[in-house]
Order: sequence, then structure tokens, then C-alpha cells
Amino acid sequence: MHSIETMSYTVAIVGRPNVGKSTLFNRLIGARQAIVDNTSGVTRDRQYGMVEWGGKEFNIVDTGGFVPRPSDVFEKEIKEQVKIAIEESSLIIFLLDVTVGITDLELEMAKMLRKANKEVLVVINKVDNSSRLYDVNEFYSLGFEAYFPISAISGSGTGELLDAITERMPEQLEKETEPELPRVAIVGRPNVGKSSLLNALVGEPRQIVTEIAGTTRDSVHTRYNLFNKDLLLIDTAGIRKKHKVINHLEFYSVIRAIRAIDESDVCVLVIDAAQGMEAQDVKIFSTAVRKKKGIVIAVNKWDLIEEKSSRSVSEYVEEIKEKIAPFTDVPVIFISALTKQRIHKLIETTLQVHKNLHAQIPTSTLNEVIQQAVQKYPPPAERGRLIKIKYATQVKTRNPAFAFFCNYPKSVKAPYRNYLENEIRRHFDFKGVPLTLVFKEK
Ligand code: GDP
Ligand code: GDP
Repeated sequence: MHSIETMSYTVAIVGRPNVGKSTLFNRLIGARQAIVDNTSGVTRDRQYGMVEWGGKEFNIVDTGGFVPRPSDVFEKEIKEQVKIAIEESSLIIFLLDVTVGITDLELEMAKMLRKANKEVLVVINKVDNSSRLYDVNEFYSLGFEAYFPISAISGSGTGELLDAITERMPEQLEKETEPELPRVAIVGRPNVGKSSLLNALVGEPRQIVTEIAGTTRDSVHTRYNLFNKDLLLIDTAGIRKKHKVINHLEFYSVIRAIRAIDESDVCVLVIDAAQGMEAQDVKIFSTAVRKKKGIVIAVNKWDLIEEKSSRSVSEYVEEIKEKIAPFTDVPVIFISALTKQRIHKLIETTLQVHKNLHAQIPTSTLNEVIQQAVQKYPPPAERGRLIKIKYATQVKTRNPAFAFFCNYPKSVKAPYRNYLENEIRRHFDFKGVPLTLVFKEK
């Protein structure tokens, strides 16, 4: 079994309200839009996104995105966010506004950031023209290493900023000690029962075999032997050591979930049976899909619902699938961390998804399926052009991807791509695994 390389690099944008955090965030995310994201149904939001630049990819978090009305944020809250950003991110963009200069609050933020043992890039925004460039000098008094004058609105200077970020990212991924073991992350909103699930899985006494350092500074992967199967549980979600004070902060739980997803092969997304699939759950789901991770949905606290519910299990599953469409080929397991109902099934399913993640379909078998599918329902002609799909092959990548060779690759539209993906799923077990389909000219 080959190993899947993972790395987590998260950049946080901090700054007081109105300096242009969300404008910069959108600008940087936009840089990625040029790259075709062929995972459908993935929503962008203003809290968190992925940026690809110079062949590297990193996560970006807009701390301002976590407050509904930025003008109402209290100083205390901003400082709290700076503290979390220092603890949880790899690099910090400290954003300031050239037209305002340095405020008292920003002096305090600078003090916190200077003390932190973290890479900080001071970015001076709204430098829309060269005359404003003179005013940048004032900011050097903050006493940092690197300053970047930019205009988030026009995009000027953002290329240099992206270069500076990717230059600071580690070249070489740290070697995984035990690459053959499935890495499983338990993710979900606060209070859905993640730590209860961990306790139910691991039991007392805990069958901890070894603790293995993760790819990021303070994450620890614990190797467990559960039901005679070895696996690594990713604990970056802070399940075992809860950060009591700030745990309620959405920013904190999102930034932790991102990292846990990055470091895993398969994510167990825990949701609360009473609440169903909520917007925040869908966001975590989409993040895992975008990062091409295996996914299992665990509907927890089923003990509270089971008897009372007027809805059947299949109705419940349908409701979830409506929310996560179009990628619905995902196992949904109804569990109770409290009564340990179907805990064993959850682990078995998770390991099966891990297996599916590594499935390799022989080209001849794949082509039989594709040829049949194409004959049954040929690609619709585009502007009078007849589209011919010649053959398909599974690309050797870290997660399942299929290349289709055809005469007019750009003319194969989403509905037909979905049709082919569904045909692949109908014949081969890729349950819980996001697939990538690329169309190429021979
Ligand atoms: P946030 O509260 O830090 O997220 O700030 P926003 O991104 O909402 O921006 C606050 C205001 O500054 C908005 O009116 C933006 O249009 C404006 N703004 C952001 N970037 C620039 C820039 O580069 N130049 C100018 N002139 N205005 C900007
Ligand atoms: P976390 O924040 O996601 O780690 O959630 P916790 O594991 O701390 O659980 C939050 C609350 O839900 C606690 O009061 C648990 O006792 C309760 N809880 C967790 N799992 C279950 C379950 O399966 N059934 C019931 N009835 N309660 C549960």
C-alpha cells in the first residue's frame, strides 16, 4: 500500500476591522479560481479557503470572517483571535491600513505578534497608488522583518506576498513514521460527541500502542489497536486535551478541523442526530471533499432519536444526502457513543473507505465499463461536434483519479462527467471516496 502525503500549512489573516481582511482573502482565494476545481458542489465561504501558488497549496483563514458584523467586534475578541492565530497557524498576515496609520489596538497586536515564535508578514493595505507608498515608512517602526505594501482591491503587490508565503513553506514533507497505517480524523462541530466517541472506541483501559508525531508542531497521532486493526487517530482536533476557554470559538474549532483533515486519510464526520446535517457540518464535509479525503458520516446520539423518531432511517439518510449532493456515495452510520451502538460497524466502514481510497482498477476492466456506458448513453454533441471518448485509465495519484482521452475534452460538460462518475461508482467500490475525472486530448 502506498502512503499518502499530507501536510498542513495554514495562514491566518489578522487585523482590526476595516483594514481589508475579507477583500484580501477573496483576492488570494481568487488566485486559486484559475485552477479548475473539478470537485462539484463545493462552496466557498469567507472564513476559510485554499490557495494554490507556484505549485504549493496552503489553507487561508480570515479571522474577520468569524464575526457577523465586523464593526461590532470588541478589542478583547480581536486579541483572542490573534492569540489563537499564533497558536494554531503556520504563518500570520498582520494586515494594516495605510490610510489610517497605526492605531493603539494595532500597537498591542504587534506586541503580541513580536513575542510569538511565529512567522509574521506585515502587510500594509490600500496602497492604491505610488504616492501612498511614502506613507508605508511609518509602519517600519513596528519592528518586524518583512513588510509588503499591497492594494487588495487592485491586486497589486499580492503576487509578491504569495511568493513570500510559499518561500516560507517547508520544501520537504516530514517523513511519516508509519505510512501504512490508516490515519483517521474524528471531525465535527463542538458538542456533537467527538470525545465521547473517542472514549467509546478506545475504552478503558486505553489500548494506546504508541504516540507518533504528526506533521505539525503540536499534533500527536496515536496508534490504536481496535478490534484487531491498527490505525492512527489524529488528535489535532484537540479531542483529548480540550482548550476549555476558547473551545466555543468557531474560529478555533474550524482551524483545528482543517488541520485534522489535512493530516488524515479518512475523516469520520460526526453530526448530532437531533440537529441533522447543519450548514457548519456541510462546510466541514466540503473541506474534506476538496482535500480528497475519504469520508464516513457518523450520526451520533442516535439513542435519543431511535424510538421517538417518526422518520425512518432511510428518510434520515435521504435528508443528509440532499444536503451533501452531488457527492452522495458516502456511508452514513447511526451510532451512539453513549451506548456504543454500531461503534464496531463504524470502524469497519472507516477501514473499508480507506481501502477504497487505494483501489486500483485495471485499465482493461475500466474500459469495458466505460465503453458500455458510452454506448448506452453517448456524450451529447456540442455545437455540432461529435464527441468521442476513446479510452480511460486510472492515473497513479495519491487518490483515485481517472483520465479520459477524447477528441474535444472541453466539450464534455458536467452532467456527462457526473454520469461517467456514477457509472464508475456503480461498478467499483469507491464509497466514501471523492473521485477526480480529467478529460484530455490524446
Ligand atoms: P475587513 O473588515 O478587515 O474584512 O475589511 P474589508 O475587506 O471588509 O474592507 C473594508 C473596506 O476597505 C471596504 O470598503 C473595502 O472596499 C476597502 N478596501 C479593502 N481593500 C482596499 C484597497 O486595497 N484599497 C482601497 N482603497 N480600499 C480597500
Ligand atoms: P465534542 O465537543 O464533540 O467532543 O462532544 P462531547 O463528546 O464532549 O459530547 C457533548 C455532549 O454530548 C456530552 O454531554 C455527552 O455526554 C453527550 N453525548 C455524546 N455522545 C452521546 C450519545 O451518543 N448519546 C447521548 N445521549 N449523548 C451523547
